[in-house]
Amino acid sequence: MNSDTESLPETLAARLTRVQERVAQAALRSGRDPEAVTLVAVSKTKPFAMIAELAGAGQVDFGENRLEELWEKVEMAEKAALPDIRWHAIGTIQSRKSKQAIGPFALVHSVDTRKLATRLSRDATAAGQTVNALLEVNISGEDSKHGFTRQALLADLPDLLALPGLHIQGLMTMAPLESEAEDTRPVFRQLRLLRDELAERFPQRDWRHLSMGMTNDFEVAIEEGATIVRVGTAIFGKREIN
Ligand SMILES: *Cc1c(COP(=O)(O)O)cnc(C)c1O
Repeated sequence: MNSDTESLPETLAARLTRVQERVAQAALRSGRDPEAVTLVAVSKTKPFAMIAELAGAGQVDFGENRLEELWEKVEMAEKAALPDIRWHAIGTIQSRKSKQAIGPFALVHSVDTRKLATRLSRDATAAGQTVNALLEVNISGEDSKHGFTRQALLADLPDLLALPGLHIQGLMTMAPLESEAEDTRPVFRQLRLLRDELAERFPQRDWRHLSMGMTNDFEVAIEEGATIVRVGTAIFGKREIN
């Protein structure tokens, strides 16, 4: 673990502000507009009251990694009449549960197989919707990581882009957990270069998003071009599980 979490401010709102400042500073350091980076607050395992508190402090984007929990929180937010939350599905989705990923979600970050992509498209089309989606790429090649390998992605992409129920908007990756954030830089850089390559090959398509960077490494990810960072621990504190 690096030192990112050692001096967490006391209150939830203060921790959010601190992370927002770090996002902005990382963007400015690399000559980017802070507005070009979306901070997704990853609320998995955390109580709805914390989401409500952060929404009250102006946080709009929230991410969950389990669809059951995502749906529960969406329903609680509706009951509590929380305004304008954008929900992100960020965790692995079993393809037999693809229907559960069709809902009032801003973005599904974790389309990691051709089978899942095909089922999501089918279910979305049946529901008269399209799913905004990112393709998850296993840049590091670790067996434990989900996602398309570079080769599989290049082979499958023409078919994926033809799926009528998916609006593919870019790429996502999970970097290996390194003790030094700097060690993740090559992974983030490779995802960006892959995105640039795809944008050249398929210029008529939408490649706007790079979802990369978590509590331990989001500043490095922003320096390498992240447009979305997914931050849990630095905002919500440590989790018991997950
Ligand atoms: C839990 C999770 C995160 C956030 O992790 P932290 O290290 O707590 O910031 C980001 N992305 C995904 C896919 C996750 O499951």
